[in-house]
Amino acid sequence: MSGNFIHTFIDEDIAEGGAYYGKKVHTRFPPEPNGYLHIGHAKAIFVDFGTAEKYGGLCNLRMDDTNPTKEDVEYVDAIKEDIRWLGFDWGDRFYYASDYFEQMYDCAVELIKKGLAYVCELSGEQMREYRGDISTPAKSPYRDRPVEESLDLFQRMRNGEFEDGKMTLRAKIDLASGNFNMRDPVIYRINHMAHHRTGTKWCIYPMYDFAHPIEDVIEGITHSLCTLEFEAHRPLYDWVVENISAECRPRQIEFARLGINNTVMSKRKLRALVEENYVSGWDDPRMPTICGLRRRGYTPKAIRSFTDQIGVSKVNSTVEYGFLEHCLRDDLNETAARAMAVLDPVKLVITNYPEDKTEVFEVENHPNHPEMGVREVTFSRELYIESTDFMEEPIKKYQRLYPGNEVRIKSAYIVKCTGCKKDESGRVTEVYAEYDPATRGGNTPDGRKVRGTIHWVNAADCIDAELRLYDNLFTDPEPDTGDKNFLDFLNPESLVIKTGCKLEKSLLDAKPDDRFQFMRQGYFCLDKDSSQDKPVFNRSVSLKDSFKRS
Ligand code: ATP
Ligand code: MG
Repeated sequence: MSGNFIHTFIDEDIAEGGAYYGKKVHTRFPPEPNGYLHIGHAKAIFVDFGTAEKYGGLCNLRMDDTNPTKEDVEYVDAIKEDIRWLGFDWGDRFYYASDYFEQMYDCAVELIKKGLAYVCELSGEQMREYRGDISTPAKSPYRDRPVEESLDLFQRMRNGEFEDGKMTLRAKIDLASGNFNMRDPVIYRINHMAHHRTGTKWCIYPMYDFAHPIEDVIEGITHSLCTLEFEAHRPLYDWVVENISAECRPRQIEFARLGINNTVMSKRKLRALVEENYVSGWDDPRMPTICGLRRRGYTPKAIRSFTDQIGVSKVNSTVEYGFLEHCLRDDLNETAARAMAVLDPVKLVITNYPEDKTEVFEVENHPNHPEMGVREVTFSRELYIESTDFMEEPIKKYQRLYPGNEVRIKSAYIVKCTGCKKDESGRVTEVYAEYDPATRGGNTPDGRKVRGTIHWVNAADCIDAELRLYDNLFTDPEPDTGDKNFLDFLNPESLVIKTGCKLEKSLLDAKPDDRFQFMRQGYFCLDKDSSQDKPVFNRSVSLKDSFKRS
């Protein structure tokens, strides 16, 4: 991971000694287990785990589950799988924030006893009404309630004596603060709702701003890295750490969230796409989720390179989707094995090639990596080629097959087109050509120029496959800004399913983790919907780079 302002801060802390003296840098990644991780989380993971890695420190994985929702173990397991896949390990430091409820309660009691918190009976509506503005302080008639009374009421809140919304516990900080987060923020609320881990044990739950610093303190976190929206909450974070009995002083540092255009990134919206069946699941290859990107064919390396290159800053910005694709292409160009696949097949008959003959060509799997070996490609009289590689009447500059023109059949021979056959509707059903036996391997011994090279497969032993081509999930670059409804901008062409595609037979051995470059068509990987007799491949990314560095 390259250097960034977070590292500068940490370097300063280490140089200063003080609170961090002798302590290893210790960070945490705290997802709320209410959805699958997305590429934005990947950035946070690289920041949190990557920073710990850089300093030889530790990073905890913590489920931030202080909200009593119906979180699912499905999410917890998926989160772990995704982080491991990205290449990070939390060792034995896997925690649930809900395991700290008792300690959080104790901290609240401690604050009440210190005169730093009180039970307030203003309703939500009244609280908004009494919030004040820049020139008017907030107010609460309960602020000076005796400590004993607050202690008693807080205990009874816990006991379940009051209904939701009847009371809150508020930190007593500064009703006139210019930072509204400091105007006696609510730190506990009543919520009679079962929690996925603690069941009905609790009916009061801590607010995030109170819970998070306590979680960090309990785990001995030195640097609590979070996104920019928490910047204005930092004084409250520090206030909590200052005023509870804490053995360490974690420092909160904020960095910019990652946004990518033509997609949405909030879990709530991603969940809507899944639950309302706009996509096939959290791992639909069009989703910006880690599991979606994985199924699409993304590699951890490509994602790491992406987050590394966009960097860590203090300014929120939106990155082009094309840049993510650019990073994938960069990786796959080096690592993907080459192969041939025909998406819109038409038969090419080499009329002067013997009917009973088959030749085997050894073709290298990668032009620059001989260590990736060779594969056998069979050739015979009947091949499949792309229907767009033949034009009976060529347009200008067309260099592929048309009557009288010579073309290179990749790695095999030069052929000269002689004509075609059409059905009643005028559709071309077969293309004819003659090969030049002297051009074996696709070379021209006499040095004559052959401009076009086309890919092909052998009709006799190719395999039938389904290919899935993807495009942006949304047509609008910013589908969820302002008062737009992101569902209005779903791209109807985000998934194009091509059936009856013809693949060279070596692809029968493709494994789920293999990556291929199908010549002239893009990078592909096997999809989990594949079966032995019906392979399905996803196009991870096309070959053409749309990304322009500005
Ligand atoms: P969402 O808006 O997607 O629901 P969240 O912030 O509620 O996101 P959490 O599970 O709370 O999701 O996030 C866990 C961590 O990941 C937090 O530290 C959060 O700051 C970080 N994170 C979430 N989204 C992004 C993003 N787009 N870019 C960078 N970091 C992110
Ligand atoms: Mg959240």
